Amino acid sequence: MEKTANISGDRVKDLIQKFIATSPLNTMQNADGDPAWDTALVGFASGADPIWQQYKEYVGAFHWTPWEVFNQHCPEVPARPAELTVISWVLPQREMVRKANRRAKKYPSEEWARIRVYGEAFNAGLRCHVVNSLNEAGHAAVAPMLVPNWAIVKSQRFSYASSWSERHVAHAAGLGTFGLCDGLITARGKAMRVGSVVAKIDIEPTLRPYADHRAYCLFFADGTCGKCIDRCPARAITTAGHDKEKCRQHLARSREHVEKTYQFVGYGCGLCQVGVPCESGIPVKAAREALERGELPPPPPPLA
Ligand code: SF4
Ligand code: SF4
Repeated sequence: MEKTANISGDRVKDLIQKFIATSPLNTMQNADGDPAWDTALVGFASGADPIWQQYKEYVGAFHWTPWEVFNQHCPEVPARPAELTVISWVLPQREMVRKANRRAKKYPSEEWARIRVYGEAFNAGLRCHVVNSLNEAGHAAVAPMLVPNWAIVKSQRFSYASSWSERHVAHAAGLGTFGLCDGLITARGKAMRVGSVVAKIDIEPTLRPYADHRAYCLFFADGTCGKCIDRCPARAITTAGHDKEKCRQHLARSREHVEKTYQFVGYGCGLCQVGVPCESGIPVKAAREALERGELPPPPPPLA
């Protein structure tokens, strides 16, 4: 690969937004041909950020650092952690999709299930597009979710986890904090999907505008809310957090409903992501207003 000048963060954001605006993959495949997505939030994290080591301790040793996944899959372009940038994006669910799923009581609305399948197919296409565009510009890159050795791993602490968690990556890239239900609450809310790419490029990291990894959830901020508990048809959320196994079993049951009711092969749920105060924004007023003012908190404590 030819060595070329660095690429700017604005150019990366632009290639993501253009792909959303122009790719034929951006479709719900419904009768009206609605797009799956209309915009993205984009953040950047350094491959040398100490948070990746914290994830090894908090999520598990199996969770890759950017350096580990990059050097496994781009061995011909060795790089030090500080030479790597992680590009992370959030695709917020559109209002019509959220509205439809708000009415759902047990299984996902057709719109939500379509996004889970076709919207995620777009997200996979976006990962490839970002990697290919960077490669064409002379920069080695990898999409960790698309490599053959990405795996779901049994975890004592979390029941199961994976070698690369897009939500944790988005948190590292300044895009959001975790809620009681485990979802990532972003500036555009918790109803969203996430993606990322690791590249040998030099882009200024996005500052994390939070001091705590749960700063945007009302339950952790002031002990109120808990609305996601009531929304979950599988009773997988309690004040103790999210039971991943119960959630997984409900998702598995949703396959039959989706196929029988909507006549396509798919699944989904996301009932806890809609009809709640964190559906489409940050519900903690002080955190939301500080973000709008562009204020940054003191350095965060280690993950606990
Ligand atoms: S619904 Fe309430 S308790 Fe649940 S994640 Fe959102 S803000 Fe937190
Ligand atoms: S995705 Fe569905 S089953 Fe899982 S926690 Fe949310 S509401 Fe419950």
